[in-house]
Amino acid sequence: MRNGLLIGMMFSLAPAFGAEHMSVAVCNIGDLPAQVIERAEAEAGYVFQSMDVEVRWTGCGAEVDAADARLRPDFIVRVRVGGHLPKAGATSLEAMGRAFMNVDGTGNMADVYYGAIRELANLYPVAGSEQLMGYTIAHELGHLLIGAGHRPNGLMRAALSKKELEALNRRHLKFNEAEQAAIPAQVAVAYGWRR
Ligand SMILES: [Zn+2]
Repeated sequence: MRNGLLIGMMFSLAPAFGAEHMSVAVCNIGDLPAQVIERAEAEAGYVFQSMDVEVRWTGCGAEVDAADARLRPDFIVRVRVGGHLPKAGATSLEAMGRAFMNVDGTGNMADVYYGAIRELANLYPVAGSEQLMGYTIAHELGHLLIGAGHRPNGLMRAALSKKELEALNRRHLKFNEAEQAAIPAQVAVAYGWRR
């Protein structure tokens, strides 16, 4: 009985010790106000935190090219100011961001296009452009972690409509269940070595 209680306690404590982390350097190429970047990081960080993955945001300084791989960020996200929506209506996330994937399905760099993001946020003013940029960053990091494909539901869907913007404004837009299992596992496998 006493052993059972002890094991139960260990399991209940496990998430606190089990949280994975990954580092993401955000390169503010378009020179957006720092506050915009910080708000986007907070939104993207929330999405990962809800899966017990802590994102450590870094700047885009010399560490990005550090000779020692342990000092380099796990991912680099470049924020660009350009980009336009191809049409009104449900908008392909490809207009708002792009993950650069290697042939083996991995990658460590993505771009997000603040111009297109702001256009969609203006079209459906139910969510802010910083919020939408945060979810676009989370989507592209999702590609870099679990591959190029899109899913019919959740954050890895191919396009966003007003409905998804309303959901993300309430922080209800998340990775789907399978992705919520796959992403922390991938972070542990790929980046757990630095512990
Ligand atoms: Zn995508």
